[in-house]
Amino acid sequence: MSDIIKLLPDHVANQIAAGEVVQRPASVVKELLENAIDAGASQIKILVKDAGRTLVQVIDDGRGMSTTDARLSFERHATSKIKSADDLFALCTKGFRGEALASIAAVAHVELKTKTENEEVGTRIEIEGSTIKEQEVCATIKGTSIAVKNLFYNIPARRNFLKSDNVELRHVIDEFQRVALAHEGIGFVMYHNDNELFNLQRANKRQRIVSIFGAKTNEKLVPVVEETEIVEIDGFIIKPEFSKKTKGEQFFFVNDRFIKHPYLNHSVNAAFDGLLPDRSRASYFIYLKVDPKTIDINIHPTKTEVKFEDEHAIYNLLRAAVKHSLGQFNIAPILDFNR
Ligand code: ADP
Ligand code: MG
Repeated sequence: MSDIIKLLPDHVANQIAAGEVVQRPASVVKELLENAIDAGASQIKILVKDAGRTLVQVIDDGRGMSTTDARLSFERHATSKIKSADDLFALCTKGFRGEALASIAAVAHVELKTKTENEEVGTRIEIEGSTIKEQEVCATIKGTSIAVKNLFYNIPARRNFLKSDNVELRHVIDEFQRVALAHEGIGFVMYHNDNELFNLQRANKRQRIVSIFGAKTNEKLVPVVEETEIVEIDGFIIKPEFSKKTKGEQFFFVNDRFIKHPYLNHSVNAAFDGLLPDRSRASYFIYLKVDPKTIDINIHPTKTEVKFEDEHAIYNLLRAAVKHSLGQFNIAPILDFNR
């Protein structure tokens, strides 16, 4: 029998990876924002057209890329963020898989402009479906602009799978808010079809939450603070009387990364026990800091799942901290004999 196994060409491998990393325009927003943050940006601008279908562009004032790096950044598994498997257990960056740009470039028209501080001129690269169309020097300022146009132009099935503009824009805004909430020290401006949706100044956490969710939010926030050997907790819960039946304002961040964590969500809700109106959910913005060695975020390509070394201890500490805050602000249940 003859041999039948072949290595896939790069553009096919990239397109397969893209299936996991790039589900919709919002995924592009997330990946580009995270790259801008990893590049040390202090000001980030996001331009979105048609809910991200025709354009997602992120412009940052970060460290930029050299011409060689600019070219390499689109290769799969090309990253400046880790060098060995050991580094996976001491991550300080949002990215590390070296997959996002390769994946995005496999399924869209991408234009990159970038310049480092030391270079006189910058680099401009146009890439379509993993094929470089153009590379030239260009006049630009320090930092990086990546424009992702016509997402899924070469995968009609994916394009047709996208929901209405309203739904896609909601996803885009959700991703944006998660990143903006985790990085209050960075200024963000976001436009959709030339309308300014957000203009967030550099701020502290409370100010950032308020500037995203509105001035009325300020009086609803109760601080939650706790510092122990295994975790630092810092954040806010929303006073129980303002809790909602709908999902929406449940935010966990671990080392400045938004995560979903049903078990820890349960912990917060357990602390609220008896305080919430029927079928309401606790709302919160909880920021956890842990030693990167004690978590594994390499569970899923989108990195919204995290495995903690000592999940149970964190559950208990969080519940106690939330309870304490609820008590301090005199919002413990009136009949609380048994607790
Ligand atoms: P990862 O973020 O996992 O390293 P990406 O595919 O997202 O993988 O990016 C590849 C590399 O391109 C990054 O490691 C980084 O060196 C470079 N890069 C991407 N975006 C930017 C940016 N906005 N500014 C500077 N460098 C960037
Ligand atoms: Mg990245």
